[in-house]
Amino acid sequence: METDVTTELYPRERVGLVREATAKAGLGAVLLTPGPDLRYVTGYDAKQLERLTCLVVPADGEPFLVVPRLELPAAQESPAGSLGLELVPWDETDDPYALVADRLPRDVGTVGLADRMWAVMALRFRGAMPGAEQTAAGAVLRELRMRKSAAEVAALREAGEAIDRVHRLVPGLLKAGRTEREVGRDIADAIIAEGHAQVDFVIVGSGPNGANPHAELSDRVIRPGEPVVVDIGGTMPSGYCSDSTRNYCVGEPPADYQAYFAVLLEAQRASCEAVRPGATPEAVDAAGRDIIAAAGHGEHFFHRTGHGIGLESHEEPYIVAGNREPLEPGMAFSIEPGIYPGPHGARIEDIVVCTEDGYEPMNTTERGLVVVD
Ligand code: ZN
Ligand code: ZN
Ligand code: ZN
Repeated sequence: METDVTTELYPRERVGLVREATAKAGLGAVLLTPGPDLRYVTGYDAKQLERLTCLVVPADGEPFLVVPRLELPAAQESPAGSLGLELVPWDETDDPYALVADRLPRDVGTVGLADRMWAVMALRFRGAMPGAEQTAAGAVLRELRMRKSAAEVAALREAGEAIDRVHRLVPGLLKAGRTEREVGRDIADAIIAEGHAQVDFVIVGSGPNGANPHAELSDRVIRPGEPVVVDIGGTMPSGYCSDSTRNYCVGEPPADYQAYFAVLLEAQRASCEAVRPGATPEAVDAAGRDIIAAAGHGEHFFHRTGHGIGLESHEEPYIVAGNREPLEPGMAFSIEPGIYPGPHGARIEDIVVCTEDGYEPMNTTERGLVVVD
């Protein structure tokens, strides 16, 4: 059963789609070292090592995966091993960069390098292919990665359900007198216990720390009557990520907080409701931002509305002013406006997927303030 799921998530035809996209973009080849692009194309979650692992997808010709001989068993056992892909192992004294160059045409033209390729590797490729221009492969891969397949949406839904289960545990962990770090440690344990393979981030922003959207866990003691922003996410065994923010208060929150939280709730909903095919990310951003600005909090919402999510917790499309590339079904991203006036703040975040006629939220826990006693 697991193999079937993997095949759906990382289908065999994807390498061919990348080859088509490579040719269409006018590139001679795309070179993918370990990272989200390689995993997207082959399902291989390869380790980032100083020894070169690289999927080579020429515009003409067969793709192949260059692997250090030590990593050959891992590559064979990964989904990449059943793609019918040629695996090319190299030995300790071989030059894998020359090996790649020798298999490509002399006049390869421009090669696309994985956006996350290490600079040392990009430089070694430049040395091995002095006639080739280098560019970022992201421009080729983004067209595919931005539009999630049904299997990818299912993986994001599974990730959303897992992080929702963690949010449901938060009221039992938040207590006046505990520190952010203590609560954060319990949340991190729960992220794993609820099915993630990895914790990506845990933000527990209590009181004034809630006014800092990227607050680090601190030893600050949570006090009664303080709002707490909890923004958490992880990576599932599938490779797909979760990310959700909810707001809690130990006891009754201050009146000024309640007033702007009501505005935020309305704004977050408005941005979600603006999601549909053909809508621009800019318009989705404006739908919520206008409500916040009209309430006099424009200056207290100083980040974009959201980011795409998939094999990376931040990827395209970005939901931000200036992005006018129309949304399409299958695009997945966060809707996470915030208001941070101090001495506290709030942010509400859901992952949503653009559908044929609107959106589907991947997170379904209570968006309103959760009061813990
Ligand atoms: Zn962020
Ligand atoms: Zn988040
Ligand atoms: Zn986010």
